[in-house]
Amino acid sequence: MAQFRYAGACHWRKGNTHIHSTVSDGGQNFEQLERMYAEVGYHFLFRTDHWAASDVTEPKRSSPLLWLDGIELDGPDYAGSYYHIVCLGRFTGITREMGFTQALMEARKQGGLLILAHPDWMGNTFEEAARYGVHGVEVYNHVCRWLNGKGDGWPYWHSLLDRHPATLGLAVDDAHIRSEHPGWNGGWIQVDSPELNSEGILEAIRAGRFYSSCGPEIHSLEFDGKDLHVKTSPVQFVRLVGPSWRGQRVGSFNGDVRTETSLSVPLDWPYVYLEIEDSSGRRAWTNALFVSEI
Ligand SMILES: [Zn+2]
Ligand SMILES: [Zn+2]
Repeated sequence: MAQFRYAGACHWRKGNTHIHSTVSDGGQNFEQLERMYAEVGYHFLFRTDHWAASDVTEPKRSSPLLWLDGIELDGPDYAGSYYHIVCLGRFTGITREMGFTQALMEARKQGGLLILAHPDWMGNTFEEAARYGVHGVEVYNHVCRWLNGKGDGWPYWHSLLDRHPATLGLAVDDAHIRSEHPGWNGGWIQVDSPELNSEGILEAIRAGRFYSSCGPEIHSLEFDGKDLHVKTSPVQFVRLVGPSWRGQRVGSFNGDVRTETSLSVPLDWPYVYLEIEDSSGRRAWTNALFVSEI
C-alpha cells in the first residue's frame, strides 16, 4: 500500500550532502565552511571529501550547524565505467587502494546511503546509473553547472524512478570554494526532521522526507486522499510530474505568481512528484510523493 511520504509537521532543516574541504581539494576548512553556510540559514552539512571517510565525533556545542559523516568515491569500476558516488554515513577501513568497486561494496555493507554524483558530467549511461542500485542521484550539481553546464541529472533520475519509484533526487553544491570553483549555496535539500541530530537527519533523508531546491521554497504539503495542497514561496509554475509524458500543471507566462496551489493527484501513475518553478526559472522538487517501501 503506497504511503504519502510527507505526512508530518514540516520542520524543514536546510542542508547539503556534497561538500569538499581542505581535507581533499576544497579551498575552505571546516570552520570556514561552517561559518559561511550557517550565515545563509543552513542547519547541517555532510563532509564528503574524496576518499577521506570523515569522523565527526561529538558535535561541538558551540557549533552553529550540525556536521555529518560521508565520503566521495571515484574511479573506474570492474567494467571500466567511471563513477563518482557520494556515500553518506560513517565508514571505517575504506581506502583508495581498494579500488572503486570494492570500496563501494564496503560503504554499502556499512550502511551507507549511496548517491550517484553528477552523472551527466561523468558521461554515464542510464545502464551505468542503474548498475549499483544507488539510493539516490544528484538531479542538480552546482559546481558541474559552473564547470561546463552539465549539472543536471533529471533524465537519469527519471530512468531510475521508472525502475525504483523510491529513488531520491537531490540538489547539491559539491562546493569546492576555490578561485576556479567559486560556487556554493546553489543547490540544497530541506529535510523534514523534528530533531536536528545526525540520526534524525539521516533517517529522514533515507525515507525521502525532504525536498530539493535551487531557490524556491515549499512551506507545506498536504494530501487529503485526492488532492495535494501545497504552500510555497512565490512561484510561476507548479507541476505534478509522472513517467514519460504524464504531467499536470498550473501557472501562466504572464508574470503572475502564486503561493497556494491544489492539484488533483493521479494515483495510478507509477510515480508522481511535485515541481515548482520561480520567475527566474529556478526549481524545487519533492521526491516521489507516494512509496510502498518506506
Ligand atoms: Zn565528484
Ligand atoms: Zn564532489
